[in-house]
Amino acid sequence: MLGNVYINAAYIFAAAFFVLGLKLLGKPSTARKGNLLSAIGMLIAIVATLLSYDIVSWNWILVGAAIGMVVGVAASRLIAMTAMPEMVAVFNGLGGGASLLVGWVALFGSVDLFISITAMISMVIGGMTFSGSAIAWGKLSETITSRALVFAGQRFVNSAILIALVVCVVMFVLEPASDSPYLYAVIGLALLLGIMAVIPIGGADMPVVISLLNSYSGLAACAAGFAINNVILIVSGSLVGAAGFILTNIMCKAMNRSLPNVLFSGFGAAKATTKVDGEVNPISAEDATLILEAASSVAFVPGYGMAVAQAQHVLCELGELLEDHGTEVSYAIHPVAGRMPGHMNVLLAEANVSYDQLIEMNDINPRLESIDVAVVIGANDVVNPAARTDENSPIYGMPIINVDQAKTVFVLKRTMASGFAGIDNPLFFGANTRMLFGDAKASISAMISEFKG
Ligand code: NDP
Repeated sequence: MLGNVYINAAYIFAAAFFVLGLKLLGKPSTARKGNLLSAIGMLIAIVATLLSYDIVSWNWILVGAAIGMVVGVAASRLIAMTAMPEMVAVFNGLGGGASLLVGWVALFGSVDLFISITAMISMVIGGMTFSGSAIAWGKLSETITSRALVFAGQRFVNSAILIALVVCVVMFVLEPASDSPYLYAVIGLALLLGIMAVIPIGGADMPVVISLLNSYSGLAACAAGFAINNVILIVSGSLVGAAGFILTNIMCKAMNRSLPNVLFSGFGAAKATTKVDGEVNPISAEDATLILEAASSVAFVPGYGMAVAQAQHVLCELGELLEDHGTEVSYAIHPVAGRMPGHMNVLLAEANVSYDQLIEMNDINPRLESIDVAVVIGANDVVNPAARTDENSPIYGMPIINVDQAKTVFVLKRTMASGFAGIDNPLFFGANTRMLFGDAKASISAMISEFKG
């Protein structure tokens, strides 16, 4: 066993690796290095922890590590890229569940006021994160409706659960015992509150929920760190908590909403939106290629459908062909495109699209009027002009990529179906819009063949 001085020195090293890793994760070009540094930090933290405490049972630790490794390797190999957002939600939830269990364990043995309070905080936030993430998983995988579920008296019910939870926490802290009935009541109510807090949020608001749950999982871990007096858990938990809050703020800004408005307004619930009708102008891959060949500037605007079609590699190939042809090519990224923060950046990076071709929404929008062709690849909500023009639309006020202002727009999707928010899109009926129906990968591959032929 190592002395405390060495352990704390190792923890400081680990924390430095985490901070540096996070800094590098801020830019696509250094993100891989950032990931590696953070993983090294975690390895140092784990080794130091295993050397520092009187291990109660190596057997159980080895069994746990083996199960964790099998699940982790299987998940990374078997889960399709398209299911990554759901997997992130599940992992978030498991982090919260782990903090709940760590807080619980801290209550066995001698419990002072500080331990009982911090254990309660980690159990409440951890429990809410666990059940809230399970609902988020259901919404992302569309196992349950992705819309907000609202009912009469919902705020009253939620307030009652919250008050009951606070009362049970106080009762437990006044007389802490590992077999206290209040302990079980706190666990049950925290799980219930997690569910109730996430069901009224849906549609285009889900990115905020995902980043907020991510932040909660960090806060729960931080509180668990206090409960078991583990410095590295406190540091890493607060880093995740703070990073999650920053991301939540970015997501709120991207949607032009305030956090309380997202959490309490039941946004995304079924509303009487304006029905859109009109003529749709389809185009073939052959004709689309002719127009692309004549264009001097093209902006690709990817969305969730690109992830479904796994079209990022062929898209990159088409982009390179156009560039060789002398066309100016850019990729416009909306912050909430796809199903998880940074989804499009990850996919385009995987396909080796050059980072300086990725243009953020606020930078591409002023340039769109001068762009010859905007090619929308499986994006829908993030290019829906109703967000600018239709006050009845649930996404009214959300900044979008203004592809309708480009000289010509191609929309690559399979049908006229709506996107995640479940609303009609007037873009598809625009005079300058041409719909290229079909799977995005097949359509782009067909354009590449035309281009080469
Ligand atoms: P949308 O969900 O609005 O639209 C995706 C479109 O892709 C659909 O209309 C679908 O049309 C099309 N599509 C699906 N499969 C294919 C395919 N194989 N080939 C071609 N097209 C396909 O996506 P956006 O990216 O525009 O918007 C993201 C939405 O998800 C927003 O509402 C956002 O708030 C929400 N969200 C975002 C999260 C995040 O963190 N980024 C998290 C949770 C939700 P069709 O079926 O006709 O092909």
